[in-house]
Amino acid sequence: MDSHSRYDILFEPVKIGPVTAPNRFYQVPHASGMTEANPRVRAAFRGIKAEGGWGVVSTGAVSTHPSSDDSPLPYARLWDDNDTRAHAMSCDAIHEHGALAAVELWHGGAAVMNRTSRIAPYSPSGIPWAATHVGFMGQLRPRIMDRQDIRDVIDWQVAAAKRAQQAGFDIVYIYAGMGYLGYEFLLDEYNHRNDEYGGSVTNRVRFVRELIEATKDAVGEHCGVALRISLEELRAKPSDNHASEAHEVVSLLSDLPDLWDVKMDSSPTDCGASRFRPEGAHEPIIDFVKQVTDKPVVGVGRFTSPDTMVSQIKRGVLDLIGAARPSIADPFLPKKIREGRESEIRECIGCNICISSWHDGVPVRCTQNATVGEEWRKDWHPEKFSPADSNDRILIVGGGPAGLEAGLIAARRGYSVTIAEKNTALGGRLLFETQLPGLSTWGRVHDYRLHALQQMANVDLYLESELGVDDILALDHQRIAVATGARWTKALYSSLEIPLGELNQPGVYTPDDLAAGKVPEGPVLVYDFDNYYMGGAIAESLARQGLSVSYATPAGHASAWTIMTNEQPFVHQALDKYKVDIHTQMLLGNFNGTRATLNNIFTQQAKELAVKSIVIAGLRLPNDTLYQNLLSRSEEFESAGIKSVQRIGDALAAGALVHAVYSGHAFARQLDRPDSELYLRDIPVAEHAPGAVI
Ligand code: ADP
Ligand code: SF4
Repeated sequence: MDSHSRYDILFEPVKIGPVTAPNRFYQVPHASGMTEANPRVRAAFRGIKAEGGWGVVSTGAVSTHPSSDDSPLPYARLWDDNDTRAHAMSCDAIHEHGALAAVELWHGGAAVMNRTSRIAPYSPSGIPWAATHVGFMGQLRPRIMDRQDIRDVIDWQVAAAKRAQQAGFDIVYIYAGMGYLGYEFLLDEYNHRNDEYGGSVTNRVRFVRELIEATKDAVGEHCGVALRISLEELRAKPSDNHASEAHEVVSLLSDLPDLWDVKMDSSPTDCGASRFRPEGAHEPIIDFVKQVTDKPVVGVGRFTSPDTMVSQIKRGVLDLIGAARPSIADPFLPKKIREGRESEIRECIGCNICISSWHDGVPVRCTQNATVGEEWRKDWHPEKFSPADSNDRILIVGGGPAGLEAGLIAARRGYSVTIAEKNTALGGRLLFETQLPGLSTWGRVHDYRLHALQQMANVDLYLESELGVDDILALDHQRIAVATGARWTKALYSSLEIPLGELNQPGVYTPDDLAAGKVPEGPVLVYDFDNYYMGGAIAESLARQGLSVSYATPAGHASAWTIMTNEQPFVHQALDKYKVDIHTQMLLGNFNGTRATLNNIFTQQAKELAVKSIVIAGLRLPNDTLYQNLLSRSEEFESAGIKSVQRIGDALAAGALVHAVYSGHAFARQLDRPDSELYLRDIPVAEHAPGAVI
């Protein structure tokens, strides 16, 4: 099948300085949690995207010098020959499929703490990037750069650019965004200098201009030179002769870079979660850039629809369709469009688990694509599957995210698969959760899998089919996956920070009760020590329904873990908008039907709230009764033809969607390879002796 001709424009080549992108699909730089410690993992991860049709595949941030040291967060480097060789593996993997390789050279300035190198951080004027959350917070304030410091940073950029060219990169970046050094020079909040690098916009742009000029002089004959810039704050600043400082900055640099890569300023707005930010949310900030430069412009917007992509190009917003998350969720997105298979795209759901992996300091994980990060170490390809090793029939009990993924991957391997679901629809916990405010996009998890399963002749889907042990023993299937999910409990939380005791009395509900259609009487208290989205989303949902709602948590913020997924600022804004009172650092003590007592977790000081019901989003435990009952009859397995029984997803260990999908995927990949939970361990490139460089 060929693509619809209306998408042909997406497959036009685009010139970027001396190089040419084969099409308009551009995987922009994005964090992967992969560093010089795992160069093969990284090369395979990037190479698969080139195989999937992305015309340009970029690295994440690559430090130019030990004074740009983001530890303990994972970051890549181009400091020496070993680093060059490590990146060459990625370039080779990308080039193998005809794509261009781009490198995002990066100096973090005051936004890095140089915890490993112990170099005083660099900044235009000594203003710290004062992030107020653990992991980013630090006590070291940056130095004020003198002229020699400025020359040094430019020299390091040049040295890294030359190494990049040697490694095989086709496009070399200058980074002036997201709080990093180039950006700090652009913004007057950071830049208080009174020399030629501060004051007027022309002066504030000078450092970035010199970085571009020096990079072009060094590698511009062979490599495209791209400028990545954040425009959100600059666009909000008035300018004397332009529509905004953003317009002024872009006009001043106009045709100097070979490519403009334009974005937002902070991770929560740049990489916005779908719960709060729609597809294409950057457009109002970056829409003017093409009017001010003749050079190509790339930007992002969690684009998964080819029609939206075509519209971006035809309306003159972008020349290249940038993607980070859509390329993670489906590395084969461009190929699927090219081949007229756009209905097969595994669309990103905007949950931001990928970005949470970087905050966790590990290689990227994705809810929709379980193979991400496992391409090399487990030999998992997102579109290719090793054929079934036997004629075993696979029975999956439960059609939630874990069961659907297990069934789909087993079926793609050629096994004959039965999925039995007790409910009237497939989707498991998502059937309720996608009705919560902002979460409808998450329905793509079951929509994608269901669509694929329905096309397959070797799959039987049964609804309203609650299976018990006798049913399973009688069904003549050899491999059984129990994917029966988990349940929310009414456990409370102790000052030792462990769940304990249950509050079993009238007026106390769990998210499962709400999913089953129960409606609590107001005023309601939502008590949350799960700390991910559920408590905050239920509070918002009940408040939107007109109930008076309070929210309490032992944590310091509402939905505390959502700091990892860039959602937390917006959770607080949403709860504020719907007038939900927030009580942090609180343990739930008593509830007498009309009053709930909250105790401060540190001081035990009590606070009373007049509420008629409580929803507890706290401890989840697996629904593994069926599994246990099956095991208790294991002596009957042989006569029933059963070779194995496994728990997967929440029935094994309650977690986020990403864990359930991964668990289902691993089951199907490994069901005939019992020891393959292990993975290949990568090692750094070390062709030069330790101590010989830096
Ligand atoms: P996971 O995230 O692990 O996929 P979910 O809770 O989303 O877990 O899905 C579990 C699914 O299993 C639900 O749709 C539930 O209705 C179904 N289920 C639970 N017990 C049975 C059973 N005995 N037979 C068939 N389906 C079941
Ligand atoms: Fe998209 Fe979520 Fe995957 Fe990230 S983890 S790419 S947001 S589906």
